[in-house]
Amino acid sequence: MNLDENFKEMPFEEKIKIMDGMTEKQKQDSLEQVKHTCKDYCGKCPSLIGTGETDLAFCSIGKSSLIKEKKGCLCNQCPISKMMSLRWNYYCINGSALELSAKNKDKT
Ligand code: SF4
Ligand code: SF4
Repeated sequence: MNLDENFKEMPFEEKIKIMDGMTEKQKQDSLEQVKHTCKDYCGKCPSLIGTGETDLAFCSIGKSSLIKEKKGCLCNQCPISKMMSLRWNYYCINGSALELSAKNKDKT
């Protein structure tokens, strides 16, 4: 199994540890990429639309100050969920994946 295959199988907690070793510039670039993908999910999500929220990537940045009502969540369909082995949803309301992992929650 090569490194890529290994990475795919890792739980979120292992993946985030590896990403912790990245430089600030790499982290920033990675967040921009997440936001780019997120536009098609959070950006089109019924929980976000109409709230005035312009930010994205809540799985990384944590709660939105504007999104308050759970009207559906598209995170499970987002490729970032698979890439990072995310196992939660409603990050905009419940907090980042890292925060949810720390709370040891399997579901939201
Ligand atoms: S985290 Fe989920 S509920 Fe919140 S805006 Fe994104 S897709 Fe919608
Ligand atoms: S998992 Fe959810 S919050 Fe994270 S990038 Fe995808 S749609 Fe956005």
